[in-house]
Amino acid sequence: MNKDLFLEELNKINIKLTTKQIEQLDKYCDLLLEYNKHTNLTAIKEKELVYLKHFYDSLTINKYIKENDNVLDIGTGAGFPGMVLAIVRPDITITLLDSNNKKIKFLEYLKNKLNITNVTLIHDRAEKFAHENLEKFDVVTSRAVARLRILLELSIPVLKVNGLFIGMKANLDEELEESIITIEILNSEILKREIFKLPIENSNRENILIIKNNHCNSEYPREYDKIIKKPLVKKC
Ligand code: SAM
Repeated sequence: MNKDLFLEELNKINIKLTTKQIEQLDKYCDLLLEYNKHTNLTAIKEKELVYLKHFYDSLTINKYIKENDNVLDIGTGAGFPGMVLAIVRPDITITLLDSNNKKIKFLEYLKNKLNITNVTLIHDRAEKFAHENLEKFDVVTSRAVARLRILLELSIPVLKVNGLFIGMKANLDEELEESIITIEILNSEILKREIFKLPIENSNRENILIIKNNHCNSEYPREYDKIIKKPLVKKC
């Protein structure tokens, strides 16, 4: 997807970028590909694919984020979707969290180069960060980090009541089935499943929205190996 097509496709989903934002994204792309030559950040090596698979895909959730929202991106990697949203939405504040310090160091470098002021970078594991930040965020986003039920246990506790979890995946049918009890135990509910295709390559994508209806028990999230090995079950 070249830059013109990117802007055209964004127009179709009601996103209009300023000249400054277009320049920031272009610089982001160049710095990512350059840094990626010595530090493994992404499997994508071509500019047009960065625009399609990282930038455009990240912005498919823009419409769900309200003005002034406080957002957390869990397992942000090289900043997807979080850093792209930060550039396009200067009205929001966003925390980018990753357990891999190489990725956080890249994001620090990028933040300074692009002069981005609405981003906080955290090097930590989500299950630890969650206990120190319960009910702090309006929105949690996460793309390609873990199975849905695991992500939900990491994410729902840090959401305010009525906050929104937005999961970005290729296909969720199987994962959703195994997540139903977790959603219930965490006092949450599926609000929407948006199934669509990425332009040009027509690959499948799904963005799922889950709302937190009420506080959840402070024992969540459990330790990571417990989350992995023991899916939540209802107590009788
Ligand atoms: N979201 C980015 C994207 O879509 O390009 C990165 C996806 S990458 C496959 C998964 C990232 O999640 C990695 O950078 C990894 O370090 C991070 N991650 C995995 N488990 C995590 C955890 N428990 N806490 C924080 N980060 C985690």
